[in-house]
Amino acid sequence: TSNPVLLKVRGLKVAYGGIQAVKGVDFEVHEGELVSLIGSNGAGKTTTMKAVTATQPINDGHIEFLGENLKGRGAWDLVAKGLVMVPEGRGVFTRQTITDNLMLGAYLRKDKAGILADIEKMFSIFPRLRERKDQLAGTMSGGEQQMLAMARALMAQPKVLLLDEPSMGLSPIMVDKIFEVVRDVYAMGVTIVLVEQNASRALAIADRGYVMESGIITMTGPGQELLADPKVRAAYLGE
Ligand code: ATP
Repeated sequence: TSNPVLLKVRGLKVAYGGIQAVKGVDFEVHEGELVSLIGSNGAGKTTTMKAVTATQPINDGHIEFLGENLKGRGAWDLVAKGLVMVPEGRGVFTRQTITDNLMLGAYLRKDKAGILADIEKMFSIFPRLRERKDQLAGTMSGGEQQMLAMARALMAQPKVLLLDEPSMGLSPIMVDKIFEVVRDVYAMGVTIVLVEQNASRALAIADRGYVMESGIITMTGPGQELLADPKVRAAYLGE
């Protein structure tokens, strides 16, 4: 795509003590794209997302967002700039209501009227959340909590939304729903980075994809091309 690059990662390295989890990763995300990052368990996908959102210190490399080097920036700073992650395991506030969770997503915003309008918008994208708006988030199913986590992230008005394994641990019907919602959010114009172990679903909806293995990017290309690639099919689609 010829759209501007919003997020650019170069030579990213992350270690946990002596263990190199990410060993020099390059990738970029253009405005309006849905980019999927796939790879098996322990490949370093989550670590890469944490590094990008400044929730994990990096050992080397640089990360640019909206043309600015993010060195030294804290996680909240990045949220304010529009780089927002829905972490693996969702991280909703289980003892707060659905509505309060959404309000907390808008924590850094000051436009009261805009916030209320956006809550209505979230309720129309996620009707289930409207039905449950005054209930505690912890009473909802895993899939509903995943939707709440995405809605809460959207309340921060992200320029790039990072989703870490949104389908993890969900029933097949809920997995369908989550991928549907990811497509809806993409269709609204939100730029998305989707980290998934469900490679076939993630590549099927992606403009572009990256395959990560043992801390490095081993393949990249249009989602459909990767999906058709025999090596990808053998390694990730059980063929
Ligand atoms: P998953 O799908 O399981 O989340 P992943 O591709 O996201 O896999 P990471 O979670 O980034 O992979 O893990 C990459 C490597 O770093 C793995 O070897 C993992 O064991 C290791 N690792 C991850 N988090 C830590 C940590 N906090 N301390 C030590 N090692 C870690």
